Amino acid sequence: MPVLHNRISNKELKARMLAETQPRTTISFYKYFNILDPLAFRNSLYQQFTDLSVFGRVYIAKEGINAQISLPTHHLAAFKALLYSVDPALDNLRLNIALDDDGKSFWVLRMKVRDRVVADGIEDETFNPSRTGEYLKADQVNQMLDDPDTLFVDMRNHYEYEVGHFENAIEIPSDTFREQLPMAVEMLQDNKDKNIVMYCTGGIRCEKASAYMLHNGFKNVYHVEGGIIEYARKAREQGLPVRFIGKNFVFDERMGERISDQVIAHCHQCGASCDSHTNCKNEGCHLLFIQCQECATKFEGCCSEVCREEVRLPETEQRARRAGRENGAKIFNKSRHRLQDGLNSTSLQSVE
Ligand SMILES: [Zn+2]
Ligand SMILES: [Zn+2]
Repeated sequence: MPVLHNRISNKELKARMLAETQPRTTISFYKYFNILDPLAFRNSLYQQFTDLSVFGRVYIAKEGINAQISLPTHHLAAFKALLYSVDPALDNLRLNIALDDDGKSFWVLRMKVRDRVVADGIEDETFNPSRTGEYLKADQVNQMLDDPDTLFVDMRNHYEYEVGHFENAIEIPSDTFREQLPMAVEMLQDNKDKNIVMYCTGGIRCEKASAYMLHNGFKNVYHVEGGIIEYARKAREQGLPVRFIGKNFVFDERMGERISDQVIAHCHQCGASCDSHTNCKNEGCHLLFIQCQECATKFEGCCSEVCREEVRLPETEQRARRAGRENGAKIFNKSRHRLQDGLNSTSLQSVE
């Protein structure tokens, strides 16, 4: 019987990983391609990845694969050889290798079969996510930015677009990808003769979006290879002008990587020029919003006076207030609710 799941405790697995002396490399990759039997594919891949001491998160669906993994660096060549041979669609697949990572983020391999690798809400059975638009490399992106017959479409969320985007890119004002897809089709309906360039953070969303545009009769659809991350990396490496302005929002402590010096956003509390996201210090709120240094001091890291009052209460009192209140990562969205007098007038939404 092959081992298809781990039966050792999480704590023990983590301890084992930390005790490893061999360096690990963290990589991510995704590919849209048809997998006829996702479970069989998963079970076979699980065994092969385990043999190479791969840890991480892998999602497999009928539409493809999405993976964030780490492996002993000396297994990298063997891993590539394996991955490239699993299916012709994976041959020579671009792997994103994390450079500033210690390889210690994962200590177990979790490989799951899902309905989709990126939830899209599309019910049309004839939609083929592997029929995607054309990839654009960094220099091609720059050429397209100068082409008057080309429209750049940002497929990320509002709070991401707010702090950084390609010059003149169109925002699709919704907080969920599933809502954005039909919205993009609708918004661009009169521009079917134009070149449509879609982009997102790492490429996985815009690639599916490009397939959806093609599915809806758009002819000239492109997407930025590897997303903003890869574009910025390649443009710098090749000495090209970097035409992404502001910050690329990422969900880690930095809450964004600065790409250009321009600050294109504003503090949500006072309106000063600022593009630093933060989470409200009130545990019962945790709102994701933009706050300048001055307001951070004034509001003690909170999004509002209400939250500031709350964090000043004794911990037991705070907990009592939180009980029963809906919690979770909330984001401030100006695209739907106009900023009036502070943040209390805005409604909050959960991040999908
Ligand atoms: Zn401020
Ligand atoms: Zn708050």
